[in-house]
Amino acid sequence: MEQIFKNLNEQQAEAVKKIDGPLLILAGAGSGKTTTITSRLAYLLDVVGIPASNTLTLTFTNKAAKEMRERALAMIDAKSYPPLLCTFHKFGLLFLKFHIHRLGRENNFVVIDTDDKKRILKKLAGDLPMPLVASEISRYKNSLITPEEAHAQAEQKNYEQIAKVYKEYEAYLVENNLVDFDDLIALTYKLLDEHPELAEETSKRYQYIMIDEYQDTNELQFKLLQKLCSAHNNLCVVGDDDQSIYGWRGAHVRNILEFDQDFQDAMVVKLEHNYRSRTPILTVANALIEHNRSRLGKTLLPTRGDGDAVKMLSSNDENEEASKISLQINKLIGEGVRPNEIAVLYRINALSRSLEEGLNRAGIPYKLVGGLRFYDRAEIKDLISYLRVITNHHDNFSMKRIINKPKRGIGKASIDKLELAAMQQERSLYDLIRLSSTAELEALVRKKNTTTLKQFIGELEQMRAIADESLYSFAERLDEIFKIKAFYEAMPDGTERVQNIDEFFGLFRDFIKQNPEASLDAFLNEVSLQSEQDQVEGESIYIMSIHASKGLEFEHLFIIGLEEGFLPLVGDGSDLEEERRLGYVSFTRAKDTLTLSHVQSRYYKGRRTELEKSRFFGEAGLCESSLKIEKNTAFKKGDLVRHKIFGAGRVIGVSKAGREFKLNINFGGNKREILASFVERL
Ligand code: ATP
Ligand code: MG
Repeated sequence: MEQIFKNLNEQQAEAVKKIDGPLLILAGAGSGKTTTITSRLAYLLDVVGIPASNTLTLTFTNKAAKEMRERALAMIDAKSYPPLLCTFHKFGLLFLKFHIHRLGRENNFVVIDTDDKKRILKKLAGDLPMPLVASEISRYKNSLITPEEAHAQAEQKNYEQIAKVYKEYEAYLVENNLVDFDDLIALTYKLLDEHPELAEETSKRYQYIMIDEYQDTNELQFKLLQKLCSAHNNLCVVGDDDQSIYGWRGAHVRNILEFDQDFQDAMVVKLEHNYRSRTPILTVANALIEHNRSRLGKTLLPTRGDGDAVKMLSSNDENEEASKISLQINKLIGEGVRPNEIAVLYRINALSRSLEEGLNRAGIPYKLVGGLRFYDRAEIKDLISYLRVITNHHDNFSMKRIINKPKRGIGKASIDKLELAAMQQERSLYDLIRLSSTAELEALVRKKNTTTLKQFIGELEQMRAIADESLYSFAERLDEIFKIKAFYEAMPDGTERVQNIDEFFGLFRDFIKQNPEASLDAFLNEVSLQSEQDQVEGESIYIMSIHASKGLEFEHLFIIGLEEGFLPLVGDGSDLEEERRLGYVSFTRAKDTLTLSHVQSRYYKGRRTELEKSRFFGEAGLCESSLKIEKNTAFKKGDLVRHKIFGAGRVIGVSKAGREFKLNINFGGNKREILASFVERL
């Protein structure tokens, strides 16, 4: 018990103890929101005595989930049955494994990742722009729009075509027994929506639900949550409207702003102290975010005391930038700082290249979180495809990937013929080859190929039998039989590829050791859910995108590319307020020192471009900026104003707040204090 409350302030303790009914913890970065829900989970299990299986804690990354689980369990005495603490997607996966049959699907489905999705769509999309098709399908799924509805809604020709591709894509997934990331949530919701008794049973099972990073939930996740807590309303969410950075993916900041309207009698707890960053860092982050208009406006006071001023680093170009940063990192490491307490962040992935080169030159080991992930490498995808086909012979998609890898002399024309025949016979490629007689196959492909294909299927069948017996032997035999390593070894970068393959088998064996009862598809699903943050470990520094850094903290932080056009990103579809929130999220990852870097020119998309320093320097109070937003302070009592969120109101008082003015405004009976720069005169 003392363990739980030892490191909590009064407000945090209050939130921990308020276990029944809806609760929102709304607070700025580093104020201990994650700490609070972790402690709350420990309190529920250890003090209140709620069985772990009656709780559900959701977050957005596996890394965050893992850390929370470890912290919560460290606080409690009994190492009981571990609570379900995972990402939304993992929850969807577990749920579908039990219930997908109610939708007429088989439960040995396999989850495909973004890259697989693109490869499937590439074939179906024809001349349509692929990124648009992919994002529109995702949007439809997240809005629960069926292909037929999408077609009915289409106002332009190309949207009719997109709806058609959507329909074919869905059919393909069902046929191959695959589900994509969006399905993990959408199908879960569909099941709960169409089966009220299942929704009730599920809600009764998860009596206490907690959500971290609530500002990044989308409408579908919100609806899912409503179903999950329909029987009790014991929902605790934590978040920060200023850290909503997934607007482009449909996240709805409204979810957090209107929580008290969505859930009756919600209690709202505010945390107003930051325990992460030194004062100068917090001052700069707060100054920046104050330039956003659509925000609630929160107090965030420093507690960690003064420290080094935030540094601005100016360089001529990206190479100089990388060298200067490497020099500083080496200096820190020389002073005894642990490398994994240092990180470099960037807004767009393309900026990592020059940085990586600089770090390599300086001999600094680094881990790139995100980017081309281990599981995205061709050799690893091939291995995974083998595993998939062995566990699910409906998976034509993976079958096509491995049918001629290593080379078996099966050309594209033969594969096309086989695929067509499989479609006509309503069979998978696997079953077509397995069940057709030699004569039937010879009618499709050359005699030599027929023998090879039959042998190939025989080997896959053999592996399937081995997998059922022992996954250890399976790991031993797979490469012996298919000789994937030898195939890659012969390539120019063979050594590295073979190392990757060995690492994959290492991971596979670890998994078997930790989950002795698990089957092959459990491993595959685990692999599909590896998120970007999962690779943060070990004794190297970290480099990652700002998006991937959410929820993390580092003693020493560098942010590169603070130039107009890069941070903020400007142009089509970009949203300056979301860019500013990205700035805020990135600055607030820093505990002790923060260095912001910009260059005069950068080589990007094939040419060198002269760049202006980011307006965020000026806005953060780091230098005068010509782009500084004009602030209107000339409000007086009685003025009518409009706020983006609260709507129209009347000023009932004006006071000074630092360099700004604070207005006391009456919004139809609700009085709120708001900085003058967040409202406009009516
Ligand atoms: P973010 O908005 O970035 O997700 P957060 O609000 O979730 O941040 P945490 O990560 O929970 O914040 O906490 C930030 C840091 O403050 C952590 O290092 C945590 O251990 C520490 N901390 C949290 N609460 C307290 C407290 N009451 N006293 C001292 N330190 C605290
Ligand atoms: Mg957090």
